Amino acid sequence: MHIDILTILPSLLESPFSDSIMKRAIDKGLVEIEVHDIRKWSGDKHGKVDDYAFGGGAGMVMTCQPIDDCLSTLKANREFDEVIYMSPDGDRLNQQLCNRLSLCRNIAILCGHYKGVDQRVRENLVTMEISIGDYVLSGGELAAAVLTDSIVRLLPGVLNDETSALTDSFQDNLLAPPVYTRPANYKGWTVPEVLLSGDPKHIDEWRWNQSLERTRQRRPDLLQNEDK
Ligand code: SAH
Repeated sequence: MHIDILTILPSLLESPFSDSIMKRAIDKGLVEIEVHDIRKWSGDKHGKVDDYAFGGGAGMVMTCQPIDDCLSTLKANREFDEVIYMSPDGDRLNQQLCNRLSLCRNIAILCGHYKGVDQRVRENLVTMEISIGDYVLSGGELAAAVLTDSIVRLLPGVLNDETSALTDSFQDNLLAPPVYTRPANYKGWTVPEVLLSGDPKHIDEWRWNQSLERTRQRRPDLLQNEDK
């Protein structure tokens, strides 16, 4: 998979991909992540990429031309399955959407700033808009990093244990069961006996029930979705 991220603050996207699972995925060649500085496509000698909003009001708006030109350059090399704009009014990100996007070959992610991007970019260049939650960030970079991480960890070969992503929360519309590790007794805090039993059938059953119970208590809405 190839992911192009368009931003005016490329340095914000350096560390999220330079450690741990993301770094391993890149090193193994399972994903290529390219961060593009939109300013490089600014036609302005001062690298201007924003302007005042028509109609007045506070806050700058990112202009069409640098984004359009940057995307055109990228489109000469690859066909995008989706051009995604990170935006608080987009579709709310969830595991189902991550699963779907993990099947794409090429995606571009556009990060907004200030008041956001000119509406004409959204109408003519963007194919999909995604929000990471009902709150407003100062820029799309952290949201793009969240989206990228949530997709890349699903690519085959990225996680060491292939089944691991399948037992995470939200796959199957259930939250994950509790997990424990050594020692079995820490300060008198003990581990459920069944997990020490070595009986895979009972352990699976226990985990399933815990998942269900946790989902009932914390996210009953997920179980309602299941019925639909
Ligand atoms: N004026 C906009 C907010 C702009 S915030 C509004 O009220 O809807 C600046 C940029 O941060 C946005 O263009 C977007 O790219 C990013 N952003 C902010 N909150 C976000 C969220 N919840 N999800 C995804 N991106 C977000």
